[in-house]
Amino acid sequence: MIKKQVIIIGGGPAGSSCAWRLKRHNIDCRILDRAVFPREKLCAGWITPEVLEDLEISPSEYPHGIIALRKMHVKFRMLRFKVPTLQYSIRRYEFDYWLLKRSGVPVETHNVRQIEKDRGEFIIDGAYSCTYLIGAGGTGCPVYKTFFKGSKVRMDENLIVTQEEEFPYDYSDANCYLWVMENDLPGYAWYVPKGNGYLNVGIGGKAAGLKKRRDSINRHWEMFVNKLKEKKLTPGHDYNPKGHSYYLRNGSAALRQGNIFLIGDAAGLATTDMGEGIGPAIRSGLNAADAIARGTDYTLNGISRRSIRWKWLRFRK
Ligand SMILES: Cc1cc2nc3c(=O)[nH]c(=O)nc-3n(C[C@H](O)[C@H](O)[C@H](O)COP(=O)(O)OP(=O)(O)OC[C@H]3O[C@@H](n4cnc5c(N)ncnc54)[C@H](O)[C@@H]3O)c2cc1C
Repeated sequence: MIKKQVIIIGGGPAGSSCAWRLKRHNIDCRILDRAVFPREKLCAGWITPEVLEDLEISPSEYPHGIIALRKMHVKFRMLRFKVPTLQYSIRRYEFDYWLLKRSGVPVETHNVRQIEKDRGEFIIDGAYSCTYLIGAGGTGCPVYKTFFKGSKVRMDENLIVTQEEEFPYDYSDANCYLWVMENDLPGYAWYVPKGNGYLNVGIGGKAAGLKKRRDSINRHWEMFVNKLKEKKLTPGHDYNPKGHSYYLRNGSAALRQGNIFLIGDAAGLATTDMGEGIGPAIRSGLNAADAIARGTDYTLNGISRRSIRWKWLRFRK
């Protein structure tokens, strides 16, 4: 049996940031992830300057492809406008692996199936034991399934369904486009250029809103691909998208039970307007680590519920 003070299940941005901060506090921890890194992660990979601040790096220090997006071309129903902003695009394939390595914490490839509580300790698949357990396993997190199912952590009305593809593409249009509520989609579609010649296109919407209209994300994906063709944004590309679902933030949830913590998508923390979850995942991981190290409350203080704030609309300096 491998014994650690803290075991983190999931090595995405939530888990790796938590590990990075725990290590700084000199706390013995280990990460278990079922995937071998670098691993594919469906995500537009659009991050805010606050994410880089939380990670204590400047864009030039990031060792992989990163693009500054200074303008969003937005179509909202019949309106078209350009929003000056400062956001960045990264590839999750690179970003998550880099974060994991940077944490300096050992990672084991292990698909967690069973977690038991035994005299104040947590036993994972009969192979690992720990005093503190961190659930950072995203939407399918086994810590959520074992200890939080039926709580108010995730609400059905906050479930987002998506279709997406990221692929190498010699794009000629390096702008970022958003189509909001097009064809009555309860969500939006995106075209996000990435560094090193990659492109990410996708679509996401509220599952409850689609169901109410007997609609589906697949139908919206087909319409979206036709639009991309019409606009000659990705000529010659044959699409082969994948889907993933995750939860937007619910207000009143308790994300800690004694020594068990939920962070990132396991806790459903993505912003309620744009569905951004990378920033909340990182900050919740840091907050959980500080709570363990200092013996203080685990709070969501400093984690905004919404993406669109005046700060979002940053003008070019
Ligand atoms: C299509 C799409 C586009 C998105 N675009 C954006 C965006 O542009 N900007 C943004 O901020 N957010 C975006 N999001 C949300 C963002 O991707 C998530 O909020 C973010 O990945 C959450 O990070 P996490 O570390 O909590 O979970 P994850 O990144 O999902 O990591 C969870 C990890 O847990 C592991 N795991 C799961 N189960 C087990 C198990 N049983 N045993 C061991 N390991 C396990 C997985 O292998 C995985 O590595 C998007 C989401 C989707 C689906």
